[in-house]
Amino acid sequence: MVSFWEESLALLRTRLNEHSITTWITPMVCEEVTDTRVVFTVPNNFFISWIKDNYLKIISDSICQITGKELFIDIRSREDHSIPDDSFSDLSNQTPTQNDIAEHIKKLNINPKYTFESFVVGSCNQFAHAAARSVSEQLGKSYNPLFIYGGVGLGKTHLMSAVGYAVATSDRSKNIVFVTSEEFTNEMINALRFDQMVNFRKKYRDLDLLMIDDIQFLSGKERTQEEFFHTFNSIYESSKQIILTSDRFPGDIPDIEQRLRSRFSWGLIADIGKPDLETKVAILKRKSFEDNFILPDDVAYFLAGQVESNIRELVGYLIRVIAMSTLQGIPVSVNLSKIALREILHRNTRTITVDDIISNVAKSFNVKPSDIKSKKKHKLYSLPRQVGMYLSRNLTELSYPEIGSAFGGKDHSTVVYAAKKIEKKIELDNSFRNLIEAIRKDITEI
Ligand code: ADP
Ligand code: MG
Repeated sequence: MVSFWEESLALLRTRLNEHSITTWITPMVCEEVTDTRVVFTVPNNFFISWIKDNYLKIISDSICQITGKELFIDIRSREDHSIPDDSFSDLSNQTPTQNDIAEHIKKLNINPKYTFESFVVGSCNQFAHAAARSVSEQLGKSYNPLFIYGGVGLGKTHLMSAVGYAVATSDRSKNIVFVTSEEFTNEMINALRFDQMVNFRKKYRDLDLLMIDDIQFLSGKERTQEEFFHTFNSIYESSKQIILTSDRFPGDIPDIEQRLRSRFSWGLIADIGKPDLETKVAILKRKSFEDNFILPDDVAYFLAGQVESNIRELVGYLIRVIAMSTLQGIPVSVNLSKIALREILHRNTRTITVDDIISNVAKSFNVKPSDIKSKKKHKLYSLPRQVGMYLSRNLTELSYPEIGSAFGGKDHSTVVYAAKKIEKKIELDNSFRNLIEAIRKDITEI
């Protein structure tokens, strides 16, 4: 009975940081295990709610992996059972209450949902995740600064917040600041205006951990860059930790002083890439789990397939689907998801084809689509044909030769000529321009 828990514990050690293990997991004593459930006792009720809120899923997953069974996890308080437990009495006295911790996190402006536990690791973010974990365990010692970079909605803010959360919950005495670069700028401007620079510098230079989100927005702000340069040096020189996020590589941020740019690369640059399908599915499952919602596999795969990379967008889709299911009392399904996302999907997936264009143009010029594709040289047909070629060039991704062949096997130079000719006509003739705009509108707003 104990060995399965020891093995699960070993697995958990690879998934949680040392602090979480010693504070929350090792105090769990496995008292009993049956075919369907496993009973743990913990020092007090506070432990129960904290573990349930933060670690239950990962514990039950680990146990399931070791035992091959989905066991119900029953957690009880040793206080209730009057089990004498000297070894934990100190810890429970010292352990701050859940409210204290929540309050502390709130004051720091850190989103309490953005933790390491809720961060799904996939090949796209494995490196950045490992670096962030390492930084959270040894502030100022492993990578300084840690520069997290990646596209919009890929989890930069989440990962950086997770470091702040882990540090703040493990050591209240650590001085932490988490700001966006805009907040940093505004605070500095206000400090200048109200003659508070001494306080501003004290706040920003006397820190254990400084986290600045979206540092690319310092671009072009010379005075802020200057101040940040000194802040950076002061924190760096006292071996305290700096973490920055950016949607661009340091070398690609425009209008940033060279001395700052080079400092961004002093520590470690960790990038977050685009998630693959499995990671997207795992994130959807994790988010649903946080909302006490079981997401069917087919729906998870369907949703994951609708978004190329932006996880914020993906989570937005999930919320929409869950909301519709809850509001209408209908279970979540692929069909329901299609309805919930109808407008968005329509907008994203509708690609305009040459045939869409030809049929619209034909209607407007009162000819047949087959006339447009024909070789007829009369102006009656050649003008709409040229308009169609021009619009195809503008509204599709096709090359000149591809457009030519879609218009009944025309040469690519014919398409080039047509596009140029129509462009010129639009420039010179207002009523013709209005006509083309009306056709374009018809095509794009189906
Ligand atoms: P960024 O700062 O890169 O624009 P965020 O950190 O704000 O992106 O992430 C956008 C959303 O996606 C958030 O809801 C975040 O929790 C979620 N998210 C991103 N990556 C992950 C991940 N690996 N695991 C779980 N949720 C993620
Ligand atoms: Mg962000």
